[in-house]
Amino acid sequence: SAHDKGKNQILFFEPKLMEMVHRRLTLESTILEGIELGRCKLFFQPQVDIRNQQLIGAEVLLRWRREDGTYSLPPDFISEAEEIGAMVPLGNWVLEASCQVLADWRKQGIHIPLAVNISAKQLQEANLVPYLKLLLSRYEIGPAQLVLEITETAEIDEFEQSLLLLRQVRDLGILIALDDFGMGYASLYYLDRLRNLPIDLLKIDRSFIEGLPEDPVMLRIVSAIAQVLALPVIAEGVETEAQRQFLLEQKIAWGQGYLFAEPLPQKVFEQRFLNFAAV
Ligand code: C2E
Ligand code: MG
Ligand code: MG
Ligand code: MG
Repeated sequence: SAHDKGKNQILFFEPKLMEMVHRRLTLESTILEGIELGRCKLFFQPQVDIRNQQLIGAEVLLRWRREDGTYSLPPDFISEAEEIGAMVPLGNWVLEASCQVLADWRKQGIHIPLAVNISAKQLQEANLVPYLKLLLSRYEIGPAQLVLEITETAEIDEFEQSLLLLRQVRDLGILIALDDFGMGYASLYYLDRLRNLPIDLLKIDRSFIEGLPEDPVMLRIVSAIAQVLALPVIAEGVETEAQRQFLLEQKIAWGQGYLFAEPLPQKVFEQRFLNFAAV
């Protein structure tokens, strides 16, 4: 009967639900404790002028240090952190740690900009703007030294709230880069929306660089769009000299990728790219 069926469903779902709740709580405390215990580490990947390999900035990429000393990569934990609601404290930690690094470098006379990835979840939190304001003043950072990388997701496109926050962030003088550019749109309508996004820079997704130089059609389309929007671009995921040559011919000036360097621990980045003395 229907009654029996209902009973079975409860028996079936309850343990699963308990398991889910338990997992959530465990994960949340793991992430929050991990922040306290210093398990979160910032890695730095150089962004260069591909004509002469000169450093123009760096992207901050989050790493999670496991107990055995190996590192876990963002694809393994970012979406889970978002799901369980731990992305805002985690993202705030990344922002403050990055500002701390900028302040340390400024004391050494170094003024390169740092690009920090921002989750769509952070852009739904009204607190983001006062928090950024606080960090800029606490660490005495010129706003143009901080770049926030946002990804084209439905969230940013749909929520007026996110757009509003983004405009306010930009009003602080912080630069906004659109990450993974080229992956998100499917229609001319979308392109029209893109025109109204408050952004300063486009990061061409790695998937358009991968096929170069043999398969340049998509890259040409994407870079033509960037030209129409009159926005500067960085090519992501540059791995080979042939790709670099092709990008040069396309007049794309900036790049990031394994050809120049992989994401590096702070000390290694400082020695190799900022000429800090080895310790
Ligand atoms: P993303 O922002 O597009 O970052 C670029 C990713 O490509 C990084 O992966 C980087 O290690 C990798 N990469 C760089 N150059 C090359 C290359 O030449 N070839 C290949 N195959 N890969 C390259 P990673 O560090 O695993 O990060 C993955 C994504 O996780 C990032 O994509 C970003 O969306 C997200 N992420 C990283 N750190 C943070 C963070 O602090 N907060 C948030 N919200 N997201 C983060
Ligand atoms: Mg990024
Ligand atoms: Mg990207
Ligand atoms: Mg990405």
